[in-house]
Amino acid sequence: MEQVDYIIVGAGYAGVFFAHQLIKQKRSFKIFYDENISASQISAGVCNPVILKRFNTFWKSQEQIDYLNVIFKEIETYTSKNYLIDENVVRIFHNDSEKVQWTKNAQKEDLKSYLSLDFIKLESVENLFGAGKVNQSCRIDVSNFFLDMLSYLEDNDYLVKEKFNHQLINTTSNSYKNITFKNIIFCEGVASNNNPFFSHIPIQPNKGHCLKVKLKEKPESYIIKKKHFLFNLQDDEYYYGGTYDRFDMSTNINDESVEELKSGLEGIYKNDFEIQDVNVAFRATVGDRRPILGKHQEHQNFYIFNGLGARGVYNGSYFSKTLFDFIENNLNLDSEIDVKRFY
Ligand SMILES: Cc1cc2nc3c(=O)[nH]c(=O)nc-3n(C[C@H](O)[C@H](O)[C@H](O)COP(=O)(O)OP(=O)(O)OC[C@H]3O[C@@H](n4cnc5c(N)ncnc54)[C@H](O)[C@@H]3O)c2cc1C
Repeated sequence: MEQVDYIIVGAGYAGVFFAHQLIKQKRSFKIFYDENISASQISAGVCNPVILKRFNTFWKSQEQIDYLNVIFKEIETYTSKNYLIDENVVRIFHNDSEKVQWTKNAQKEDLKSYLSLDFIKLESVENLFGAGKVNQSCRIDVSNFFLDMLSYLEDNDYLVKEKFNHQLINTTSNSYKNITFKNIIFCEGVASNNNPFFSHIPIQPNKGHCLKVKLKEKPESYIIKKKHFLFNLQDDEYYYGGTYDRFDMSTNINDESVEELKSGLEGIYKNDFEIQDVNVAFRATVGDRRPILGKHQEHQNFYIFNGLGARGVYNGSYFSKTLFDFIENNLNLDSEIDVKRFY
């Protein structure tokens, strides 16, 4: 039998950021990765403190931004790479009244450090009413982040490339196959609905499509947003996405969503483009829009880390530390994020 401090199930943002906390604190662990393409791996990786429909912000946004810089510096110490890309979100205004709303909100205490009043006129895309820049927004290099983190985990013998089977947990001896563990953390995204220990937690799948496109002419180096995000991946390749769909539960690509993306891009980009790839995955969302962290009712060393919604990077990085501190340092969980709210 191999003994570890932790088993982590799932290697999206939740699992990988929690693994980072364990690497940092020199805990022993195994992380199970079923090699499915996760929502995390196809995400845009945008870190944006402003809700771009209403120009509001959200709970603990500044703490999350500050911690993002800390965690990526820590990760850089062992991957030798910086995954934070210093590119701001610019939101194209639909009309003049949006611009007025932005200006009004920019006076508010919690928004003034985010909503820039130096409006931008983009040359490369349609923006009749101009665009507003979100200060402190950025994005991460998603593909290299997962590539490097998964190979680091594999090289250091943390990664188990197989689907975790809940039926094989022995809850008396706290073991799984030939591994005994002190704690187990389920970071399964929407697959949490099949986890017999946490299937009653109301995770709502929200299907998202995104495109990889080739553009004929390069837009400015921003994360351009009207309906969806548009930004450069490399050379003439761009990311465009994603859609939101709470109803379609099939795993296939949906033509209507691809059409929505195509017409969204045509609406702003008047030059030729070519779709290279379409990706699809499910976000794990929660009705109250708060992540879900905490302990199983009965099994006191079984934990869930889920419900990261549309903010996988902020929520995954920030709350991985919250969860670690809860487990190991007896810090309380805010009731808004504690899984107890569903018991
Ligand atoms: C199109 C799109 C764009 C997005 N853009 C952004 C963005 O710009 N910024 C942002 O912050 N967020 C974005 N998100 C949201 C973000 O992707 C999610 O919040 C995040 O992926 C959730 O991470 P997670 O680790 O909880 O779940 P997931 O990413 O779903 O990862 C869970 C992993 O666990 C694995 N797993 C489950 N069960 C088992 C098992 N039994 N054994 C082994 N492995 C298992 C799954 O296969 C999966 O790999 C986007 C999402 C989509 C779909």
